[in-house]
Amino acid sequence: MIATKGYAAQTKDSGLAPWNFDRREVGPHDVQFDITYCGVCHSDLHQINGEWGGEIFPMVPGHEIVGRVVAVGSEVTRFKVGDLAGTGCMVDSCRNCESCQKGLEQYCLNGNTLTYNSLEQDHKTPTYGGYSNTIVVNEDFVLHISEKLDLAATAPLLCAGITTYSPLRHWKVGKGHKLAVLGLGGLGHMGIKFGVAFGAEVTVLSTSPKKEEDARKLGAHNFIVTSDPAQLKSAMGYFDFILDTVSAEHDYNQYLALLKTDGVHICVGAPPTPSALTAFSLIPGRKSIAGSNIGGIAETQEMLDFCAENNIVSDIELIDIKDIHPAYERMLKGDVRYRFVIDMATLK
Ligand code: NAP
Ligand code: ZN
Ligand code: ZN
Repeated sequence: MIATKGYAAQTKDSGLAPWNFDRREVGPHDVQFDITYCGVCHSDLHQINGEWGGEIFPMVPGHEIVGRVVAVGSEVTRFKVGDLAGTGCMVDSCRNCESCQKGLEQYCLNGNTLTYNSLEQDHKTPTYGGYSNTIVVNEDFVLHISEKLDLAATAPLLCAGITTYSPLRHWKVGKGHKLAVLGLGGLGHMGIKFGVAFGAEVTVLSTSPKKEEDARKLGAHNFIVTSDPAQLKSAMGYFDFILDTVSAEHDYNQYLALLKTDGVHICVGAPPTPSALTAFSLIPGRKSIAGSNIGGIAETQEMLDFCAENNIVSDIELIDIKDIHPAYERMLKGDVRYRFVIDMATLK
């Protein structure tokens, strides 16, 4: 076993505190890498707070993980000691079902293994995430990270990046499209960057008027404050796509009204509470409401390579792991500019 240091929530309401645990020895197909940086996703907060149900405690959150390889198994061919490596939200899947065969491990029909708050494919060993000093992952779920990009700012690509890249690619969002990014946080700011890179006209829909200047610096063409009815009205029937990254309860009907005929409202934000949807928000404009979950492993590598080529990283605030709770508090208030990343050197 590999002695590992991390931060864990012991129960639903405990918050995080230092916790030592063991990781498995490096198997023939495994890569071990020491974690340099780990991004802080709103999903970490939803899960340590037990908001989605079915949580497994103790829970070590973190699924935007980058670092350097320190050991590889005898059969490993794609990595060597010293390489940069990354892991996102998944560490394994069944590999046999229709989704896995198509490279859509995020939709594994037999249940994939998430990086934390999940069970290995033996259906009994819990997984522990990236708020820790080292990790052991099957090489098929380890990503290559470019040496060209700022490493700390690359970490959030592993979740916030792929979660926005994948739906924009799936719906072929690009030139000639009007894209709204709803909610300007970790996912939202990456949604702007990819939307702009793919050639779409990007509008941010935000509850925070103070974020307008940042939105424009990130590349957004327009900015709408959603609490202002006049601004919302001016955008009725305007968008081809809405990329909805909002983490808390909100009224989908209100935003569906902003779509054109055949427009698609793509949910990536995962509020814990159900929401009422009237069919009359969809029927008149033949509109769709859809969801999207992270991205497959091959697509995650494609996204990382695209980012390296186009010099795309996240805008981050680097934090000491001891400051994780104040960071969560700011995240809850929508005060993220635009991703917290933990400097794992601060984990003593
Ligand atoms: P985040 O950084 O906290 O950003 C969320 C943003 O939503 C906030 O900055 C805020 O933007 C807006 N917002 C928050 N509360 C709101 C409210 N009550 N009404 C309207 N807008 C509100 O969170 P994140 O890390 O980007 O994650 C966003 C959501 O996506 C979370 O629910 C997370 O669990 C989920 N997620 C899903 C996937 C997936 O695969 N589908 C992957 C990762 C994360 P403004 O200030 O601009 O209004
Ligand atoms: Zn995430
Ligand atoms: Zn599968």
